[in-house]
Amino acid sequence: MSWFKSLLGPWAGFSVTFRQMFKPKVTTRYPKDKRVKPQRFHGRHVLNRYPDGMEKCIGCELCAGVCPASCIYVRGADNPPDDPVSPGERFGFVYEINMLRCIFCGLCVEACPTEAITMTHLFEMSVSDRDEGIFTKDSLLVEPDGTPNHPLPDTPLIDINELKLSDGWMRATAPSGRAAFEGIEAWSPSARLGGMAPAEPSQESGQETGDRQQATGDSEQPEEESS
Ligand code: SF4
Ligand code: SF4
Repeated sequence: MSWFKSLLGPWAGFSVTFRQMFKPKVTTRYPKDKRVKPQRFHGRHVLNRYPDGMEKCIGCELCAGVCPASCIYVRGADNPPDDPVSPGERFGFVYEINMLRCIFCGLCVEACPTEAITMTHLFEMSVSDRDEGIFTKDSLLVEPDGTPNHPLPDTPLIDINELKLSDGWMRATAPSGRAAFEGIEAWSPSARLGGMAPAEPSQESGQETGDRQQATGDSEQPEEESS
């Protein structure tokens, strides 16, 4: 039978190939098919708004301070009293992230006291020019209705819906926000909380809103009268 083995020999190695041909494929046809990402996937950032349209960023620069890659540049400015941009005293006047340096660690999200910056499920951010790798506030800030922006929205790889999948949540609103939303919780489009309806104002949410005011630095609370 040695002649049979020598005849089969060159083909024996193909047995592995033939076996694999009939097994289910483990590869996905990216970018046509995209895998569902984990809920807390660290993708491209967005800057969020409150439900009343106000910006959540108060320009505190904590995100920039904690960033290990030094890729965030923030400049804060005082809110115009007659037309405030954010509920705090200040707002993020300039906000830039250099995505070429970002390591997507999420520390900026952890540091932010107002949940202004959150991460989404979009990771396709290839650019043809280094300058395009710096995402400005125009690109990062969501529209007043919560619609995310992207500097290259027509790029075939980019699925703008992936920018809507974030684990960010938002809460209305601090004292200078619109009164109709005060104490009402609402959530940004989110894989984690997206299906939840806004909550009714309650004693508890009012207390939490007070906590939020302290966190945003707008801690002006009515002083209790001493009897
Ligand atoms: S994810 Fe990390 S590296 Fe990227 S901007 Fe935030 S803190 Fe910096
Ligand atoms: S930590 Fe949050 S509120 Fe402060 S500058 Fe950064 S994004 Fe804005």
